[in-house]
Amino acid sequence: MKVFGSSGVRGIANEKLTPGFVLQVAQAAGSAWDTDRAAIGRDTRATGQMLADAAASGLASAGVDVDRVGVVPTPGLQAYAEREGIPALMVTASHNPPQHNGVKLVGSDGVELSRHELERVEDRLLDEDFERVPWDETGVTSHVDGVRADYVAEVLAAVDREAIAAADLTVALDTGHGAGSLTSPEFFRRLGCSVLTVNAQPDGHFPGRNPEPVAANLEDLGRLVATTDADLGVAHDGDADRAIFFDERGEFVEGDAALAALAARELAAGDAVVSAVNASQRLVDVADAAGATLSMTPIGSTNIITRIRSLGDEGANVPIAGEGNGGILFPDYRIARDGAYTAARFLELLADGPTPASEVVAPFDDYANVRENVHYDDEADRAAMLDAIEDAAREADADLDTTDGYRLDYGDAWVLARPSGTEPVIRIYAEAGSVERAQELASWLQDATEAV
Ligand code: MG
Repeated sequence: MKVFGSSGVRGIANEKLTPGFVLQVAQAAGSAWDTDRAAIGRDTRATGQMLADAAASGLASAGVDVDRVGVVPTPGLQAYAEREGIPALMVTASHNPPQHNGVKLVGSDGVELSRHELERVEDRLLDEDFERVPWDETGVTSHVDGVRADYVAEVLAAVDREAIAAADLTVALDTGHGAGSLTSPEFFRRLGCSVLTVNAQPDGHFPGRNPEPVAANLEDLGRLVATTDADLGVAHDGDADRAIFFDERGEFVEGDAALAALAARELAAGDAVVSAVNASQRLVDVADAAGATLSMTPIGSTNIITRIRSLGDEGANVPIAGEGNGGILFPDYRIARDGAYTAARFLELLADGPTPASEVVAPFDDYANVRENVHYDDEADRAAMLDAIEDAAREADADLDTTDGYRLDYGDAWVLARPSGTEPVIRIYAEAGSVERAQELASWLQDATEAV
């Protein structure tokens, strides 16, 4: 795909992502979709309204009526799309910096468009093959209220509200000025939790922190948890489809550790868990212990969603899927990442027992990650390096997976080499129970790569 990445299209608003471009994306979607109605939602970004207006015009010109649902988390728009049985267009750049924006496309089942469906829209876009209806068939825009409230009610009904309320928990929440600012504080209060907030006013300039929920952006939340009696810190990205945690001491919880803890509760023998080829050893160990299969996809959320569907078609049970960035899916609920739902499922782990968050993730603490980059000069250099990696990989005493790059699984550790999509480097990742073991594997593959 030339225009759409694995999660739609993103760029700096009014530079790459102009109203004209978004208008064309919406014209293409409206032309490719077999629908007379679609929904548009957006996160809190300063350029969201401008771009949503452009998207509404594009859909209307293709004869599609538009439900404008306003600011809503992406999973809230997905819930609306499924409920109404109509496709949807989300104006969001997810975790990207404030000046960015983007478009994500959702099908009438509430699931992000598959790669195949995105390609149909992209073909229309590149060919400017737009369906322009006569003036008296153009779409009409309606503003729809209550979509956020319906979303909160739906997530509340889907989790173990009684157990969470009985545990009398305090949640410190950092919605990062994003769309979750308008839903998550209410959601956790109605779950029976006491709620403390930071960066929880919706603001498209993101004055308190960048939308990406990584440790470096979440020092305020860590401090809030450490200096209060909060049992858990929860952070979202800009469109609140991700949840990242701090334990009750204010310590950052690695996304991979949270995913492993949630998976340990979900997985039974014979189940499958889907993750990308950089899946953590933590998840490998959890799947092994449960007698479940870890199914790895190329990196990118669309690939994970496509795999969940194909495994489901084959009759496999996939109770959980996702990545270590806080983007987790519980396919029995919906094939969508959902920050509020994921956080509530984590609160269920705390309510069990009850158990402090630090103890919930303790079994998944002692893992070490090492990353190395090997630069290449040109295409020939790159190809020679990949050949060298392949030779080394085939001789190694490990399971080789070539889904996306070269991943070697040793049982207790893994190493992955794959070319960057954006820079002239081959990235080497390794993870093991000790930093020495991880470094040994990364250095071995780095040496093999550099020996060209
Ligand atoms: Mg997101």
